[in-house]
Amino acid sequence: MNSDSRPSPDLPEGLHPDTLAVRVTVPRSQYGEHSEALYLSSCFVQPDSETSAHRFANPSEGYTYTRTGNPTVTAFERRLAALEGAESAIATASGMSAILLLGLGLLKSGDHVICSQSMFGSTMKMFGTDFAKFGVETTFVSQTNAAAWQAAVRPNTRLLFAETPTNPLTEVCDIAALAAIAHSAGALLAVDNCFATPILQRPLQLGADLVIHSGTKFLDGQGRVMAGAICGSSKYVDQIFAPLIRSAGMVLSPFNAWVVTKGLETLSLRVKAQSANALQLAKWLEQHPAIDRVFYPGLPSHPQHELAMAQQSGIGGAIIAFSVRGNSPEQARARAFHVIDSARICSIATNLGDVKTLISHPASTSHGRLSEEQRQAAGVVQGLIRLAVGLEHVPDIQADLARGLDTCASVA
Ligand SMILES: *Cc1c(COP(=O)(O)O)cnc(C)c1O
Repeated sequence: MNSDSRPSPDLPEGLHPDTLAVRVTVPRSQYGEHSEALYLSSCFVQPDSETSAHRFANPSEGYTYTRTGNPTVTAFERRLAALEGAESAIATASGMSAILLLGLGLLKSGDHVICSQSMFGSTMKMFGTDFAKFGVETTFVSQTNAAAWQAAVRPNTRLLFAETPTNPLTEVCDIAALAAIAHSAGALLAVDNCFATPILQRPLQLGADLVIHSGTKFLDGQGRVMAGAICGSSKYVDQIFAPLIRSAGMVLSPFNAWVVTKGLETLSLRVKAQSANALQLAKWLEQHPAIDRVFYPGLPSHPQHELAMAQQSGIGGAIIAFSVRGNSPEQARARAFHVIDSARICSIATNLGDVKTLISHPASTSHGRLSEEQRQAAGVVQGLIRLAVGLEHVPDIQADLARGLDTCASVA
């Protein structure tokens, strides 16, 4: 949302994303602050009634009320849009409210959606249950099998929604192939770019129409605030989503926008460093006898390793999933709990993208609300552990995991 009548700061064309990440913002105030200002204000004083009337009728021409636009929120939207190579972006209160806004804006009763069967749990629930209440039908297909997406297309298919890599199994889909399927069906492709971030992957360049973000994850990067966004062409973002959020109201608070805008300044450094740590840990986990399987796109053993490397700038990302061995689902779960509970550095928490390493048990947390059948289809087994790797010294995290892994066999 470009709710700012003043010209954009005078940046030259063709800048590298690393430069955009620290430089794109709204114009400075009259005081010339160097760090971005935080406009923590719910409304804006109007110079006169005529101007007020004009701005209420044309929200992009001046700020009036923070639900319809706020300069700190605009700063975040512009910076994120620049990183995604998008014409525009709209900020939302959380990642899930971005998905809600997407559905409210694009779908109507009788429409059909195709999604991966292995995605973030709340996203699956939103499409499978919440949008279903309004007469929108969703078909869930295998993330990695483009032919299955193609086969699910119907005349009323309006949207394909993919997350890549997926949460928690890091399954990768071919964004360009799904874009081609969507477009030949007259549908749109939206990609949740939460795991890769624009540092590793820019879905719009690969043909996606819209990018969804949970700013709560890597974009903030220090586990402080909730945030979300939709990025894409002005046709959708400014013409459909912006007018809708002004009445629907799930806007990003200016304070959270300020935090996440500052987060974007270090995104590139953090994502690359955390991914390098994750690759080292994934290699080590893969040879540990207590572990059944490691899911990490940067490992040659990952089923979509080559696609992931081509699509993600040659970097696997900072999330690893691994399953511990067990003779039954109950034993595998007990052993997974043992590994998690033996950690003294890794936080038992279900966020990701934080500079502090987080460890979680997806089957009982992020995917706990799914039915056992949905969990099976998503491959979220009871022995599965998700590790969202941070910036700690790798041998320290390795020792923290080894404490539980080395003693797993003692868990009946
Ligand atoms: C966390 C997450 C979301 C939801 O974002 P919130 O900010 O928690 O609402 C959506 N997609 C993925 C892949 C996520 O990890």
